[in-house]
Amino acid sequence: MDQREKQRILVTGGGGFIGSHLCHRLLGNGHSVVCLDNFVSSSPRNIDTLLSHPRFELIQQDVSLPLNVRADQIYNLACPASPVQYQLDPVQTIRTNVAGATNVLELAKATGARVLQASTSEIYGDPAVHPQAESYWGHVNPIGLRACYDEGKRCAEALFFAYHQQFAVDIKVVRIFNTYGPRTQLDDGRVISNFAVQALRGQDLTVYGDGSQTRSFCYVDDLVSGLIAMMNSEQGFTGPVNLGNPEEITILELAQMLREMTASASSIVLKPLPQDDPRQRMPDIQLARQRLNWQPSTPLKHGLARTIDYFGQELIRVNRTSLV
Ligand code: NAD
Ligand code: UDP
Repeated sequence: MDQREKQRILVTGGGGFIGSHLCHRLLGNGHSVVCLDNFVSSSPRNIDTLLSHPRFELIQQDVSLPLNVRADQIYNLACPASPVQYQLDPVQTIRTNVAGATNVLELAKATGARVLQASTSEIYGDPAVHPQAESYWGHVNPIGLRACYDEGKRCAEALFFAYHQQFAVDIKVVRIFNTYGPRTQLDDGRVISNFAVQALRGQDLTVYGDGSQTRSFCYVDDLVSGLIAMMNSEQGFTGPVNLGNPEEITILELAQMLREMTASASSIVLKPLPQDDPRQRMPDIQLARQRLNWQPSTPLKHGLARTIDYFGQELIRVNRTSLV
């Protein structure tokens, strides 16, 4: 299909942090968007400005139930991404990943739609190889607290490739590394939202462990460009392909940076490191550069400034609501 053609696109998890940015971008590009979400880890506020859009449709449904939607392309993003959120109901997290992937693949098989899976750097677990390239098979604890997410996502990848090999379903798989930006929930539990909200509220910044573990953070606008580039890449290029920003930082440095950028008087306190917390993470994005001509362009400080601004406004909104 010609990329410039206007398409009907299903985004599962379209009400979430990344999904809502994707829905906004796809509508801006002239497509019709069907957003499917049960809002288990997000707020409908993320998409409330889209509800009156003539090319936007919302289906409130669990992705693990059978789907009946007509679409040319499917982005499968439905799944809580924050460790705090996905560990609330581990069985449902596995079901969302496995039954959800099966459902979007069945839909693609029946209709000929192209389907993209939002996989994750968690596929690599606590990696013994650094940085992580797609060729690395990973180091995952299959029975730990993170297993519902990590193994759920690994099984989803296996399902995608099985449907591709067995039924010639047109698949695309991306492995997303830590992504941040506006529309993360205030209580999402991931590190940038936690630190930004804590700093703005003048509360202690809670660094887990000694803060020497590393992550590499990608701004959401860059990530969305990568998702769309992969979806529209040449027929037969399945991935998996890493999407992330290779700018690595320790969690302690991140806490210090956010404290400075908010001019906060907050202290940094050390808390126990959660089980199986990966020690280091940084994507090798050579494949994305070569095959998708994609790389992130937003420096961490620029993205953080926009994110802090968003959380500042959210805190004002929440305070105002609680006064009413
Ligand atoms: P998010 O929690 O903000 O969004 C996930 C969305 O999926 C939410 O709107 C949630 O309500 C919805 N959802 C969850 N379970 C569902 C179900 N059973 N049925 C229907 N909807 C359901 O998280 P996010 O950061 O926007 O992540 C989006 C996707 O990207 C996820 O699949 C996640 O695994 C993947 N990913 C994200 C990151 C990141 O750093 N943000 C990193 C790697 C992978
Ligand atoms: N983290 C932290 N304080 C917090 C939240 C997270 O120090 O309040 C750490 C966490 O232990 C991990 C890193 O920040 O080492 C990233 O955590 P996050 O939950 O954002 O994502 P992960 O990459 O672990 O899935």
